[in-house]
Amino acid sequence: MTQAVRGGGGTTGIVGRGNDDGARLFRQWFHELAAAAEAGRPAAYVFVMGSLGELMRTFDLPVVFPEINSLQTAVRRVAHEYLNEAEDYGYSPDICGYVKADVATQLRGGLLPMGRIPKPSIAVNTNACNTYIKWAEIWERMYKIPVFTLDVPGTRADGAQTWPGDPDFENDRRYVEGQLRELIPVLERVSGVRFDVDRLREAMGHANTLCRSWKRVLALNASRPSVFNALTDGTIYLGVANGFRGASEGASYFTDLVEEMEYKSANGIGTLTAEQSRLLFVGVPCYPIFRRFSEMFTELGGTFVGSTYLHFASGGANLGYEYDLARPIESLAEGVLIGVRDAMDNMFHQTPALLGMIDTLAADGVVYHPIKSCRTVSTGLADSRRALLAARDLPSLFIESDMMDRRVVSEAQLKNRIDAFFEGLASRRAQAASRLTA
Ligand code: SF4
Repeated sequence: MTQAVRGGGGTTGIVGRGNDDGARLFRQWFHELAAAAEAGRPAAYVFVMGSLGELMRTFDLPVVFPEINSLQTAVRRVAHEYLNEAEDYGYSPDICGYVKADVATQLRGGLLPMGRIPKPSIAVNTNACNTYIKWAEIWERMYKIPVFTLDVPGTRADGAQTWPGDPDFENDRRYVEGQLRELIPVLERVSGVRFDVDRLREAMGHANTLCRSWKRVLALNASRPSVFNALTDGTIYLGVANGFRGASEGASYFTDLVEEMEYKSANGIGTLTAEQSRLLFVGVPCYPIFRRFSEMFTELGGTFVGSTYLHFASGGANLGYEYDLARPIESLAEGVLIGVRDAMDNMFHQTPALLGMIDTLAADGVVYHPIKSCRTVSTGLADSRRALLAARDLPSLFIESDMMDRRVVSEAQLKNRIDAFFEGLASRRAQAASRLTA
């Protein structure tokens, strides 16, 4: 395979294209949101677990992801200003930091470091996180907008999932489908656009390309050296997967991304020149020191080959589910059920997913990162770790910080723990090597 040469803007090659194009699409997205805010156009506020982006596009509704907006304030190191403002307004310090940053954003008339976002005309959420439901109620009170909560049945017990064709699954699918059929007239009323099933098919076709490619990209990290860092690069790809779900730009981006990752895999191009430790990440990233957090691992030869975040925060797109365009509404219900259920599984009982990734990605260790202000993802992680260690003899690290609040992020403490973890990894490698030569 030859290295692709890209025209314009000085970008020269295929390697790094996903990061460059991801940044460009993000700027484009926020430019469009700012234009919508300026024009007073209505927007749909949605969440990453069950965004229904493909359906929203059918009604020409710009999509706003408050979770992504909030994490951007942390990456840009201004989250504390937003958190303080919401706490001064009356929100408790110990609730989800994303909610508080969003409340402050709304109090500022939608102003964010990336631009101004439009006000909501509708909020659509799922039950994937209980905070979603209470969060949407804040906008309901502030803006008197309709709120639609899609109730997606989760996994009842470990190993009890059912799949298409099973009577239990079909009952759940019909339950979700009935709700989607109720949502469509609400979206028609809010947007003033009539529902067009062919437009939905088109958006679902783009979502198919995106989901198929996302699954392939995740699998390509089995390469040695790994072709992307799941914590840093992966978060950029994830942003596009959410913001451009159902859009042609999202489909093209992920088609290109597969090409890039296949190229890197075929040519032995990794994120580290000397990859020593292949790690899995559990939880939500430490956005207040996003780059530095990752560097504390990469400086010691460790890279993240997979993460539960890339599963649950993509709304289960990691499964690569593809819609049947011949029966769009039924298939949309089926895809939402499978995807959102998997997202919940990856938050609440992630051990099976981790065991799968340990095998397919040849991971050497697992890093658990519970955080103060997201109990949904953090609760039970200590028990999950015990369950994993009972199933596998694998080094693991348990470090706590936050996704938004730099007041509870201690870089020095994190570094001490990470350094000690790597000493343990090195000594295991030495013992394994001596066993081989004995
Ligand atoms: S999953 Fe965590 S970060 Fe996301 S909305 Fe729920 S509580 Fe907040």
